[in-house]
Amino acid sequence: DPSRTLSFTVTHKEDGTFLLVVEEITERLRLHQMREDFVANVSHELKSPLTSLRGFAETLLGDPDLERERRQEFLAIMNDQIGRMQGLVADLLTLSRLEGRPEPAPETPVALDALIANLSNQFSGTAAHQDIALILPDSATLAGYHWYGEADSLNQALGNLVDNALKYSPAGGTVEIQVEPRAGELAVHVQDSGIGIEPQHLPRLTERFYRVDKGRSREVGGTGLGLSIVKHILQHHGGHLEVSSRPGRGSRFSAVLPDHPAGEREKPLSGGVH
Ligand code: ADP
Repeated sequence: DPSRTLSFTVTHKEDGTFLLVVEEITERLRLHQMREDFVANVSHELKSPLTSLRGFAETLLGDPDLERERRQEFLAIMNDQIGRMQGLVADLLTLSRLEGRPEPAPETPVALDALIANLSNQFSGTAAHQDIALILPDSATLAGYHWYGEADSLNQALGNLVDNALKYSPAGGTVEIQVEPRAGELAVHVQDSGIGIEPQHLPRLTERFYRVDKGRSREVGGTGLGLSIVKHILQHHGGHLEVSSRPGRGSRFSAVLPDHPAGEREKPLSGGVH
């Protein structure tokens, strides 16, 4: 099997015999490769805004009499690049915090209507600004629905999905949030009328730094870490992410979580005669 890697170590023992140790290191190599790729990606992501910042700073320093308008223009670009780096660092910190947490999420009930209200506060402005209709379920239909876990993390997971839906949708489109109760689960769908995603990319979307179109994603301000964060948060809460998409028509990302606390999951059926 060419995909497996073995390591051979020969040791000369005191009694004159040899010991041959054969060890499979495929997994260790894979992790090593992942770590290297990660560091390379982070460096690359920091490099381009830094190069651009240096260029503009040098221009500003080298030409103290640059006309006011040009200066403002350059400073605005520099400000954007700083924002990009701040976003990247914030996402990296979130990811490392999530990955270092083996313990399950707490079981605090989080009302769906509160989560949706938060999304509305957070995104109505951007949606209006982009001329996209943000359609939310009305709070009466959400009464009594809960997820269980950390409100802040759940907020961030849904927020990342809505943020993407807005980023990858043209003006005049719609982003609709729907809540669907299923057996033992509650799904929140974020449906957009955006650019969509070709099927071959779907399985890789939650990989760190994976982007369908790097140029476009950078333009709209993505770090490539958003969906990786969403996946981690949902898994940590005993749930998962679902994606379906039609290229050119739009995408639907769904956060699916249990509708009951973890303690009540997989309770053995009580046996015996009642
Ligand atoms: P980014 O910060 O680049 O948006 P994400 O991890 O959030 O990173 O998403 C990874 C990639 O998945 C994006 O770069 C984009 O190519 C694709 N993607 C995510 N959400 C959508 C969407 N709603 N519509 C189309 N493409 C999307």
